[in-house]
Amino acid sequence: MQGCPWRCPFCYNTAIQKIGQPTDFVWEKFVDFLKERRGRLDAVVFSGGEPLVQDNLGAAMDEVKALGYQIGLHTGGYRPEHLQKVIDKVDWVGLDIKAPLTAERYKEVTKTNHLEKVLQSLDILLQSGKDFECRTTCDPRLLSVDDIVNMVEFLKEKGVKKYFLQKYRPVPEDTTTSDADCCKFFTNKALLSHLKEYFEEFDTRE
Ligand code: SF4
Repeated sequence: MQGCPWRCPFCYNTAIQKIGQPTDFVWEKFVDFLKERRGRLDAVVFSGGEPLVQDNLGAAMDEVKALGYQIGLHTGGYRPEHLQKVIDKVDWVGLDIKAPLTAERYKEVTKTNHLEKVLQSLDILLQSGKDFECRTTCDPRLLSVDDIVNMVEFLKEKGVKKYFLQKYRPVPEDTTTSDADCCKFFTNKALLSHLKEYFEEFDTRE
């Protein structure tokens, strides 16, 4: 879905960050595709961009759900009030945790003031009883191992059960970050043992 209030330096979806960009995507054709695939596909994940910026997200979910699909949502937690409106329609959520959840560090890393919204969204997910995971893209230009430790300690205290570390794949304009830089989070034994201890489900996506 088009539209995103973040500008992550590791973004591969810059073409859909702004709403109104020309696109070949036609919703009606997508619905026809889903009708054909009934019984062969299980679920549709609404992703972006940031799906919560789209006011018609709930209506789109209703249409897909009526075809028999389960509903997933990828979000950074923007617009918690909108998350609250659609949460009953959703079967699973992947919540991006982009930075340590302290005012100073979240602002430094993301260059945004969205922290309070993310925290409210996290609380909505925890209270909803819905299946959800938190995950972080480990961009070594933005985050240190200590940042991840601080982040996961906070999430564990909040009661998050599932957490995933995702490897940063250098974007074309990043010519200086090495694979070793990107891998340092996945080879740090102390960090990995924290993560295994803290969460019921933890894995790396490399
Ligand atoms: S939240 Fe996703 S779509 Fe938005 S800037 Fe970050 S990586 Fe790109």
